[in-house]
Amino acid sequence: MVTPIRNPDIKFKQLFINNEWVNAISGKTFPVLNPATEGKIADIQEGDKADVDKAVDAAKKAFEPGSAWRITNASDRGCLMNKLADLIERDRLYLASLESLDNGKPFNDSYNIDLVLVIKCIRYYAGWTDKICGKTIPMDGEFFCYTRHEPVGICGQIIPWNFPLLMMAWKLGPALACGNVVVLKPAEQTPLTALYIASLIKEAGFPPGVVNVIPGYGPTAGAAISEHNDIDKVAFTGSTEVGQIVMQAAARTNLKRVTLELGGKSPNVVFADADLDIAVNACHNGLFFNMGQCCCAASRTYVQEEVYDAFTKKLVEKASSRVVGDPFESNTMSGPQVDKEQFDKILNLIEAGVQQGAKLECGGKRQGSEGYFIQPTVFTGVTEDMRIGKEEIFGPVMQVIKFKTMDEVIKRANTTHYGLAAAICTKDIDKVMTYSSQVKAGTVWVNSFNVFGAQCPFGGFKMSGIGRELGEYGLHDYSEVKTVIIKTPTKL
Ligand code: NAP
Ligand code: MG
Repeated sequence: MVTPIRNPDIKFKQLFINNEWVNAISGKTFPVLNPATEGKIADIQEGDKADVDKAVDAAKKAFEPGSAWRITNASDRGCLMNKLADLIERDRLYLASLESLDNGKPFNDSYNIDLVLVIKCIRYYAGWTDKICGKTIPMDGEFFCYTRHEPVGICGQIIPWNFPLLMMAWKLGPALACGNVVVLKPAEQTPLTALYIASLIKEAGFPPGVVNVIPGYGPTAGAAISEHNDIDKVAFTGSTEVGQIVMQAAARTNLKRVTLELGGKSPNVVFADADLDIAVNACHNGLFFNMGQCCCAASRTYVQEEVYDAFTKKLVEKASSRVVGDPFESNTMSGPQVDKEQFDKILNLIEAGVQQGAKLECGGKRQGSEGYFIQPTVFTGVTEDMRIGKEEIFGPVMQVIKFKTMDEVIKRANTTHYGLAAAICTKDIDKVMTYSSQVKAGTVWVNSFNVFGAQCPFGGFKMSGIGRELGEYGLHDYSEVKTVIIKTPTKL
């Protein structure tokens, strides 16, 4: 057992531009709160448009032909990224503690899940740097054609608060592997670990301006990124509403490339033949992991009618026994929601569930009187026309829905404008094949949920996003393909 650092020092509170720590031009700061106590952790410099402009200038310089970054060969770029992964590994305890303090997630999860995935992601992409190849293409006539995969340039990256470190790794990994430069804005709720990673980027030896981190608010600093005429690409993770704003901003300005990883209302379908203990775990963890604050959360649990009553009973027992409390206690399974806005939104949706006639089986209330803790909640008798059956809740609220047949459940699973993830629990391979080919989702888990690997692509169908992160696919949106056609000598 590793002992967490309950009060990690907050070492960096400024903006990180050109490998230097600077105050915001406005001189403004914003408070960062501890969601477990509602108390203030620190005041952080608040970046805005003028600071984004400054960061873009630094990034532009870092990307000029002949710059230290541009002449770093591909293999050495991989070494720099591996060095960064080593430093994250060295400071894993500190980073996991800081992440839990800032976000409220259980330390056990930060240390054993988030940090492990972060390190693997950076190492995975470090391995790609010298394996990004173009093609040689046969052509008519005396011409030789080949393609070069070049970096896109200045990448704006806007990330959310639910996995602050991991979302940073998913964004930095492919961007740096392809040789881009970055201006990144962490979420206003959780900027602390991103700033610490910035210090490690400098320590690892990345040249100035390659990665710049601007903490601040979405409508100001975030909008300045998505509207910037010199930013070549924007990668966003967060709500579908803001994803639309980002895309409109890109369209209105310089048509920068846009990738979006947005919300979901993912279905997890349990057939009567499933191993019910495995299925209970898949459904429970699929929803309650990270306090339900996952874009892919399994927030519609479809259960076949033959096993509905028995299975629901198991789900309710498991949810009721989930330990909610201090993120730093070793037996804690769920901490608080990230902030008051999310806490109020979730309680409001629970209220709507009751009003619209779903049956509240357990939970439904705030836990304790301090911090944004919500009891694990299970509703049965849910239908897709209820708000809790169709809206993304982003909280510890499970919707159990009864179904009869495969055709019916596929239709119902697809009655949503989202399409991020889906799951099926069954022992029947025919059911797996039918469901996985017909459900509209970017990832399909079978007898499992929330299983991630840096090498496995992730992203959404429909309004859950555009593009893919992770894996080889994650590189595509961080490079431009250039075609070169050369006239060859007519006579040899
Ligand atoms: P959000 O507003 O979409 O925030 C995500 C990121 O976008 C943050 O860095 C945010 O900045 C920034 N942002 C906000 N407005 C912006 C704008 N006009 N232009 C550019 N960037 C902007 O998410 P939220 O308000 O924190 O949460 C709302 C809901 O979004 C949640 O209830 C959940 O349903 C969904 N969500 C989804 C994910 C996911 O992983 N797909 C993650 C988080 C939230 P600031 O936060 O600093 O203002
Ligand atoms: Mg917001």
